[in-house]
Amino acid sequence: MEHSIESYIKNLVRETIGQTISDVQTHNGRSNYVIANWKMNKTLAETADFFEKVTCDDTVSVVICPPAPLLYLANNMIKQQVKPIALGGQNVHWAEKGAFTGETSTEMLKDVGCEYVIIGHSERRQYFHEDDEIINQKVRQSIKAGLIPIICIGESLEQKNFLQTEQILTEQLIGALKNTGSSNFIIAYEPIWAIGTGQSATPERAQETHAYIRSVLKQLLGQTADSISIIYGGSVNEKNAEEFSSMPDIDGVLVGNASLNAETFEEIINVFAKGEQNE
Ligand code: PEP
Repeated sequence: MEHSIESYIKNLVRETIGQTISDVQTHNGRSNYVIANWKMNKTLAETADFFEKVTCDDTVSVVICPPAPLLYLANNMIKQQVKPIALGGQNVHWAEKGAFTGETSTEMLKDVGCEYVIIGHSERRQYFHEDDEIINQKVRQSIKAGLIPIICIGESLEQKNFLQTEQILTEQLIGALKNTGSSNFIIAYEPIWAIGTGQSATPERAQETHAYIRSVLKQLLGQTADSISIIYGGSVNEKNAEEFSSMPDIDGVLVGNASLNAETFEEIINVFAKGEQNE
């Protein structure tokens, strides 16, 4: 892979002052993100292999979120290969430190090279009983520590069928953002019925929902809402990514299954990178 001088310098800046690489703006003033959520997948060898293979340029902000034990290696691989890729945790604890066996702190994530952290994923809400109050504490601790939270919200199939989507999203947004005093976060709209099912939302429906989310953010934060990236997640793959990328309020994607394979993930990155170049 060829590395531009520009991406080399960006990496240096990132290492030196901890600045994020997401300085690429779309026409609407927001960054486009392609974020990988590996969930509980991959060994050390598979992680090394992925970072050797995956290539991207810096016209889109690429963030990889591996499981915690793989972060150290992932960070080393990114530095060694000088790739314009940022790292994120999949979860974090709300306390600064202490007696919380099995947990990971914001300081630990930062120390190992993370700039981002996923908070409130539906699998955490479902299997680990995380409610809006816990999610809010995690968001606040992350912002305090200088991590950018990727806040996941989304309705279940039942809620969708009962036409409760807007109500649920509003509650989740207000719950997560209470007393945060920051606009330095990303919202990931992930309808639960679309995650890992192969049944993604239609791009038109996702666009409508993103526009609604932005209207709620406007109520909460005023015009700043226009600068917040809202990304879509739920069965995104290399075949449907293009349609999502053409929607004005869809500022990128959060990808589960299709992010595990370097070639497939790269195809998705290229869709959004191309989108920015074309604007
Ligand atoms: C996810 O779990 O965040 C996700 C989007 O998964 P998938 O792409 O596999 O639906």
